[in-house]
Amino acid sequence: MREILPGSILSHIQYGYQKVPKKVKSQCPSCSKTSEFVLKANFYQVNKTGLFAEANCSECKKPAVFVIMLNDDSIHQKEEAGLYIYDPLATNGPLDQIQGNKRIPQDLVRSFRSALNVSQSKDNSATAVMSKRVLESVLKNFNGDQSSGQSLSEQFDQLPKNVDLSKPIQALSHLVHPKSAFYEMLELEREIDDETAGLLIELLEGLIEYLYVLPEKIESLQERIEKKY
Ligand SMILES: [Zn+2]
Repeated sequence: MREILPGSILSHIQYGYQKVPKKVKSQCPSCSKTSEFVLKANFYQVNKTGLFAEANCSECKKPAVFVIMLNDDSIHQKEEAGLYIYDPLATNGPLDQIQGNKRIPQDLVRSFRSALNVSQSKDNSATAVMSKRVLESVLKNFNGDQSSGQSLSEQFDQLPKNVDLSKPIQALSHLVHPKSAFYEMLELEREIDDETAGLLIELLEGLIEYLYVLPEKIESLQERIEKKY
């Protein structure tokens, strides 16, 4: 299931007390193109809170399944219903990874979600405003309140002092200690099962991403933005 943010909902219809999405823009689970879907009106209500709807991709014409989550409590009834597309391969990217993460402050999750939402509806000014809010929220999370009143640039200067980027690497030194079970597996002195082999590969991916992919990505994005102006 992938959430379709309000910025990608092009029109609504009334369903009982609520407005539910009618026409939406989304990446198609079948052809992967960003196309339009007109949700068929013959909703099939699963329970009090969920509706199934089908719609065909405007590009490849194949059907896709949507789930509309209604707000059943009277307080939130005026709010828009949530919309999800059934896409076995899809995730919401970083949003999925941070939404359930207790270490990430809720105001950061909210502002990042809003930034994604306005960028999907191509509102560039709002994207700039929300992106600044995300940056401020990240910096405040690590630098604490003492940074308030400082410019973004000053706060970024402070950031490396307040975030321990070496911690994940130091933890690995412990993991591969010669007497550890993990090290014995690497040396084939101990049998390794399917689950651990899978975790091992994930660890390699994480390490490569942390050391090579992410720093390079941030640097190259910075260069591309600077070159433009
Ligand atoms: Zn398609």
